[in-house]
Amino acid sequence: MKVGILGATGAVGQKFIRLLQNHPWFEICALGASERSAGKRYKQAANWVEDVPLPNHIADMTVATCEPSAFGEVDFVFSGLDSSVATAIEGAFARAGIPVISNAKNYRMDNSVPLLVPEVNPEHIALIQSQSFTEDGSGWIVTNPNCVAVPLSLALNPLHKEFGIETVVLTTMQAVSGAGYPGVPSLDILGNVVPFISGEEPKIAPETQKLLATLNNGELDEPHFALQATATRVPSINGHMISATVKFKRTPKNIDEVKEAIQSWENPIAELNLPSSPSEVIKLHEEERYPQPRLHADQEGGMQLHMGRLRMAEVFDISFVAMAHNTIRGAAGGAILNAELLYKKGILK
Ligand code: NAP
Repeated sequence: MKVGILGATGAVGQKFIRLLQNHPWFEICALGASERSAGKRYKQAANWVEDVPLPNHIADMTVATCEPSAFGEVDFVFSGLDSSVATAIEGAFARAGIPVISNAKNYRMDNSVPLLVPEVNPEHIALIQSQSFTEDGSGWIVTNPNCVAVPLSLALNPLHKEFGIETVVLTTMQAVSGAGYPGVPSLDILGNVVPFISGEEPKIAPETQKLLATLNNGELDEPHFALQATATRVPSINGHMISATVKFKRTPKNIDEVKEAIQSWENPIAELNLPSSPSEVIKLHEEERYPQPRLHADQEGGMQLHMGRLRMAEVFDISFVAMAHNTIRGAAGGAILNAELLYKKGILK
C-alpha cells in the first residue's frame, strides 16, 4: 500500500521512516510537514537523529505541505503531527477519504475513534463504522495511546481480566526521547530527575480505561478504577519505566496466582502473524534488577513489554514495574502495528 507520513520531519516521523524501510506491505510515497519544511528535500528539512543512515530515496524526496491534494494517490497516512495542528490536518485527510493512523492525542478520546493497542483491544476497530468523516466510510481515524498508557494497558490487561482493577498508584520514569527533538535541555536533565511532565498525568487514566473497555452493541463500557499518576522525566534515552501498585476487586491468594494470570494470557492477534508483532508480547523478568531501559527497550524490535519486580504489596495487593520503548511501542511502532491489524482485517484497502 502507498503510505504518506504527516509530521515526517519530527522525532516520531523519523521513527516511522526508519521502521517502514523494507516493510512487506507499506511503501512510503509522500512526506509532509510544516510550511517551514515544505518544498525542501527531506535531507535539508529534517535533522536526522536516528542511528541508522537516512535512506537515499527518502533523503531526496520533496517535503509536501500537509494537505490531501499535496499527497497524491496515497492509500492512507501515518501521523506524527504536533498536537497544535493535528485536529485540523488529520480531520482534513479523513474527510478527503484518506484513512489516518495517528500518534497525536487529538482524537484519542473521541467516542467513535478507536484508541488501539492490538493485543489489548483489537475488537475496538469496529468503532470505525460509526465515524462520519465521509459518506461512503472511506475516510476514518484510528489512534494509538500515550507512551505511558501503552505499557500500562499491556501490563494491566491480563490482571484486570482475572482480578478486576480497583485502584492504581504509579510513578513513571520517562526517557528524554519522549519529549521529541531537541527535547529537554541537557542542563535540566543530565544528572537529574524532573518531577513533572506538562500534560502527561491527565492522559494516563482516561486512555487506560478506554483501552480496557468492553465493546457492547457499538458502545464502550469503561472500567472506572481510581488511578493516581506522577510523571517524571529521567536521563535515560529510550524506554519509559512505570512503577505501579495495584488494588484489585478480588485479592489474589499469592504472587503465583498473579504470575499465572500474566503467563496464561493469550495474545488475541497471535495467529495473524503481523510483521511488527513481537513473538513474546509480555516478558516477565524474574531477576530483581530487570527490566532496565538500556538493556531491554530495543528487544524484539522495541515492541515487547517488559515486566518485573512482581511482588505482593504492603499497601494494596501487588507491585510491579513495566517498561517499553516509548518511540517504538509507544509511538511509531505501535501505529504501524495498528495499520497491520487493519490491513489484515481488510479495513485498510
Ligand atoms: P516533533 O519532533 O516536534 O515533530 C512535530 C512534527 O509536526 C514535525 O514534523 C513538524 O514539522 C510538524 N508540524 C509542526 N507544525 C506543523 C504545521 N503547522 N503544519 C504541518 N506540520 C507541522 O514531535 P514528536 O515528538 O515527533 O511528536 C509528534 C506527535 O506524536 C505529537 O503529537 C506527540 O504528542 C506524539 N507522540 C510523541 C511521542 C514521543 O515519544 N516523542 C510518543 C507518543 C506520541 P516541521 O519540522 O516542519 O516543524
